Amino acid sequence: MEYRRAYWDETADQGFIAHHERQIFPLLRRRQHFAEVTDFQLYDLQTGFGVDDHVFAYSNGPAGDRQLVVYNNSPHATRGSLHHAAPKAAPGREGEIGPGTTLAHELLGAHTDFAFVRFCDHRDGRHFLRPAEKLRQGLEIHLGPYQYQLLHAFEGLHDEDGSWARLYAQVGDAPLKDLDRALLRLRYDALWAGWQQLVAPQRLHALAGGLLGTPLTAAALSLAGELDEEVQALAARLLAYLAPDEAIATPPPLADDLTALAGLLPTTPALKERWSDARGEPGLSYPLLCWRLYEQLRLALPSALWPRLEAFGLGLAWEELEGGGLLPGEDRQLATLLIACARLAPPPALAPSPLAAILRDPAWQGLAGINRYQGTLWFGRERLTRLVAALALQAAHLAALAAPGSKSPLLRRIGARLDRRLAEAERCGYRLEEFLRADAGPPPGRLRPSPSTRPLRILMVTSEAAPLAKSGGLGDVLGSLPAALRARGHDVRVVLPYYRSVAQVAGELPRQAKTVAVPFGSECHPVHYCLAELDGVPVYCLDIPYLFDRPGLYGEGGSDYPDNARRFALFCRAALELARTMRFAPDVVHAHDWQAALAPVYLRHRLWHDPFFAATGSLLTIHNLGYQGFFPAGELAGLDLDPALYALDGLEFHGGISLLKGGIVFADRVSTVSPTYCREIQTPAFGVGLDGLLRARGDRLHGILNGLDGQRWDPAGDPALPARYSPADLAGKSVCKAALQQELGLQRDPGVALAAMVTRLDPQKGLDLLLAGWEQLLQRAVQLVILGSGHPGYEQRLVELAARAPGRVAVCIGFDDALARRIYAGSDLFLMPSGYEPCGLGQLIALRYGSVPLVHATGGLADTIRDPQRHPDTANGFVFHHFSGAALLDGLDRLLSVRGTAPERWQRLMAQGMAEDFSWRRSADDYLALYRTILEDMA
Ligand code: ADP
Repeated sequence: MEYRRAYWDETADQGFIAHHERQIFPLLRRRQHFAEVTDFQLYDLQTGFGVDDHVFAYSNGPAGDRQLVVYNNSPHATRGSLHHAAPKAAPGREGEIGPGTTLAHELLGAHTDFAFVRFCDHRDGRHFLRPAEKLRQGLEIHLGPYQYQLLHAFEGLHDEDGSWARLYAQVGDAPLKDLDRALLRLRYDALWAGWQQLVAPQRLHALAGGLLGTPLTAAALSLAGELDEEVQALAARLLAYLAPDEAIATPPPLADDLTALAGLLPTTPALKERWSDARGEPGLSYPLLCWRLYEQLRLALPSALWPRLEAFGLGLAWEELEGGGLLPGEDRQLATLLIACARLAPPPALAPSPLAAILRDPAWQGLAGINRYQGTLWFGRERLTRLVAALALQAAHLAALAAPGSKSPLLRRIGARLDRRLAEAERCGYRLEEFLRADAGPPPGRLRPSPSTRPLRILMVTSEAAPLAKSGGLGDVLGSLPAALRARGHDVRVVLPYYRSVAQVAGELPRQAKTVAVPFGSECHPVHYCLAELDGVPVYCLDIPYLFDRPGLYGEGGSDYPDNARRFALFCRAALELARTMRFAPDVVHAHDWQAALAPVYLRHRLWHDPFFAATGSLLTIHNLGYQGFFPAGELAGLDLDPALYALDGLEFHGGISLLKGGIVFADRVSTVSPTYCREIQTPAFGVGLDGLLRARGDRLHGILNGLDGQRWDPAGDPALPARYSPADLAGKSVCKAALQQELGLQRDPGVALAAMVTRLDPQKGLDLLLAGWEQLLQRAVQLVILGSGHPGYEQRLVELAARAPGRVAVCIGFDDALARRIYAGSDLFLMPSGYEPCGLGQLIALRYGSVPLVHATGGLADTIRDPQRHPDTANGFVFHHFSGAALLDGLDRLLSVRGTAPERWQRLMAQGMAEDFSWRRSADDYLALYRTILEDMA
């Protein structure tokens, strides 16, 4: 545009304005926008093709309230960046054109230390947020045909607590209806979570009980209940406020609510009495309560918010405490000191010596009664005794929270530490430096319950549990292991997504009245749940319809759901919060496979400081290393995890993220489902790229063979079978075989060997081996039945091959539990030529149903099936070692030869398999031992 070369005085050059008025009439009609201001700047829109001459952009307005108007006078959309003002001459100095200033300088002034800039579009009131650095490089503008933007209210922002950065990470350059509200949502979430935890009844109970060393009375409990109502009301109001897209006419009531709640604590007479009198040391426990309040909040919030927080809640409580004459002066000082400790030190249980941290701070030395005398710092005996006692109480309190059932050994240890400190103080003659040196002993470590024989609380986090949800062996294991553990007297609870299939199996389950508040990213998701039961084990089904009310568990039509990472991340996070809602502090969170692998990660990275989970260990069981939950790296941002976890020793895996890897890295222990597979996965051939990590964690890696639910899989009582049978009376098995042959259109030949496969159609299962040897296999005197679903390629190929061998081969595509049972019962032999097999349940079921397994020697197959060549007396099946079609056929020939020529041996083999005990008896005990090892590690 010509003004770039013109030199003009913006206040006087009416000709210039008149010229442009014709061109950009909609704006220039309102010439007062710029005709009467003293500081007017024009800009070029730099596009990828140079300057867009159709765009007219200018800023005006007084410093501090600049406006930016950008108008596209063309029928085409345009996109580009505004950076520098047009060069112009100073009034009266025509001919000398000075350089243009930058847009950032024009809009924000000379300040350069802002982290972010906010501004507003006058047309629709929408807000924008930009990193200041980005604005300095130019402002991106995108305008439709004849569109204009009028941006104003530019404001530079500092970002002490990182909230703006977090918000920007979420919304990017997109406009927001209300930037302030979005920020509040981000911040109040944490604030709310902190408060809710703080005054929940179990907290009060544990706090008061822990402090007093006695359980709370019924009166105190009902008081806690009343407080809970207050909290619920507060939570409801906050949630209403935080609900997206809700129009809020009035300012949030949060400050008032918090203030009222904080005020409630010290003015509730029964609580006051209990906290200050019952210990017999008036006053001391109340400051501890305050300290506790503060600590909770401190943990929940970024440090820059602490001062605001004090103003909200604690400040008020504190005022009450000081003004209300509740405490003698010394206790008040002590309490102040404890709060200082909370501010200065990491959580006390993790700090080497919180005492040292306090006493080294000159600001608090006065309060601790520390004096300088003849060049040495001394402290008062009385003051120190009280301080140390208070710290010991604080530790005891943490311990009580961590392990409600086993306080006494911990208290003894804490008492011993107290005595040691006091003796140390005595010994060093109350000289501060000497005392601190003596006190800087090794860190006390996390306070944990010592492992004992007491019943354990186990939270199973899983994506499958038969029969509610099953796609393979994982479902079977979770359908039976929990009951086996519960039968041994342990409190086991299962958390499962409320899939559509759950309702199909168990009927529509009513939602529980309570909801679980799940903090996830900047949001707090209220999650409903339903309760089902499996053999006496409660199964909590998390009802998140938009994630789980779908036809499939993990995908449909051979494709995974694209949001699987988020689905199962939120599920894991919700499972942990559900435990809190149930007031079920688990000893061990037992997570299964990649779908649950983030549970241990959240325990470590989101909840490490949370007293509720302070005594919780974690176990990850790998049911199949081949399924890792591998996602693009960009997904990490949506999983409420620290971006720093995108690292070699975190979730990073070949340029993406592996959720299973996260679980392997962060779980206290890792197990897999057979001893052989446990060894195999530590080798490159089976390690799927994780063998190095698994070797590194080798001392924490265990192989525990899966069990089988003997009642659910029992040919003597299976209602799906046309006839029942047992090892003692096998007549029913022949009936089953005849019925199966008829059902599937096979020739009715009792003599022919009927081979079966019931399997996911996946390369893992050795289908390529089978297909390679197909023709030769059919040259043998066998019939073949395959029931499976999975890869469409296999499905199609198998159906084609079956069509070519009518009467000999039957292929059923689909997942059908009843048909599977009829196949196990009606077949003579069961094929499992898997390339790898973590444990395998198919062969165990086959054994139980008298179908002799023929398997490849790998993983759990190698651990459960014994071949006559190596075990002449105890054989229960046939095993081939080399992974090839020839070896499979060789194994088949050996099997057919025994069956055809030595019926007695065959009968013995079958009987041996049917009698075998693969129940959970031994494996459940192995899991219990492993849980206790985890607890021991933590003690
Ligand atoms: P994986 O867990 O690798 O799928 P397992 O042998 O450990 O293999 O467990 C498979 C379980 O799933 C067994 O209970 C088997 O009967 C069952 N199963 C597999 N495919 C089907 C199917 N198409 N229909 C019914 N049950 C099936």
